[in-house]
Amino acid sequence: MIDFNVPPCTGREIRYMAEAVASRKICGDGEFTRRCSAWLENRFQARRVLLTTSGTTALDMAALLSCLEPGDEVILPSYTFSSTATAFVLAGARLVFVDIRPDTMNIDERKIEDAVTDRTRVIVPVHYAGVACEMDTILAIAEKHGLKVAEDAAQGVMSTYHGRALGTIGDFGCFSFHETKNYSMGEGGALLLRDDTYIERAEILREKGTNRARFFRGQVDKYTWVDLGDSFLPSELNAAYLWAQLEEAEEMLARRMAAWNRYDAALRPLAEEGLMEVPVIPEGCVHNAHMYYLKCKDLAQRTDFISFMKGRGVQCVFHYIPLHSAPAGLRFGRFHGEDEYTTRESERLVRLPLFDAITPAQQEEVINGVKAFFEGNGK
Ligand SMILES: *Cc1c(COP(=O)(O)O)cnc(C)c1O
Repeated sequence: MIDFNVPPCTGREIRYMAEAVASRKICGDGEFTRRCSAWLENRFQARRVLLTTSGTTALDMAALLSCLEPGDEVILPSYTFSSTATAFVLAGARLVFVDIRPDTMNIDERKIEDAVTDRTRVIVPVHYAGVACEMDTILAIAEKHGLKVAEDAAQGVMSTYHGRALGTIGDFGCFSFHETKNYSMGEGGALLLRDDTYIERAEILREKGTNRARFFRGQVDKYTWVDLGDSFLPSELNAAYLWAQLEEAEEMLARRMAAWNRYDAALRPLAEEGLMEVPVIPEGCVHNAHMYYLKCKDLAQRTDFISFMKGRGVQCVFHYIPLHSAPAGLRFGRFHGEDEYTTRESERLVRLPLFDAITPAQQEEVINGVKAFFEGNGK
């Protein structure tokens, strides 16, 4: 059986976790957290990076920092994970879903401005499959209407848009280090802050509403409860796991890219024959090989494809059911404009196994299955 995902592990994780235990500092914000945040700040040129307990809680922090009031609206795509939505619902906002582009599955930047009302406060672009949204257009709309931009870059670690790292372009950027992402710490994530504006409040929110971070820097002589807060900091054990991966981040990216390119070289010709579709990477976007997906003709063909591959021992999975048609989506939001592509394209998409340790032989099996299906009886 070729699994859809195998969590990444470089081999040094256990040693670093043992070091964290031996240091007798296993709660948050110790040496491994410091190393990871410094590495991320430096690699992506973010003003500040705060490790969090998940990509979801990084989004929660972005939503809380947006200072939303009841009735405020947030614009996001419907084709995304529930976390993109729940963060802003918890912070009190109404959701306004906008259609996606069929080529990248990202929010259609040309349909955003029409959804802006006098209650709109934030735009949340989701960089699907680590391929950037059209950020220049999105930033221009945000500036024109005085909106904040919170990037859901959960899948976009190491991707760029016209040379800028995803997660550092908007006011807030959110990474995920879940076991299904390119780099993992089990459960974990990071909030990236582009400039100084939100740093102090973010540190307070993350540390149960206290000014503990300032205290440890010697900027105040005692720490106290000063604002809203929660506990968003991961333990050193998780940070130690992540550190092993960040040390090898460039090699892991190269391996993943090689695997992505192997699929692409074998399967793009089938797409050129019109048998199915493969991912589109727009001009100016450098992706991180997070995902390789195909698009079938329709839902029925995708269902057949998944069971055909399962029969050959290959686990292929589909992705999100659009949020606007989900029970909670109906309750907390509305779709603005026409659902031209969200539902239709989401029903056609299927992801192929792709993970750090996938071997060329395993990929060959996947490729042979795809070819047998689309060139043979699946036509
Ligand atoms: C994975 C993911 C999240 C959530 O990240 P967790 O670390 O699992 O909480 C949010 N948004 C998108 C687009 C994701 O892919």
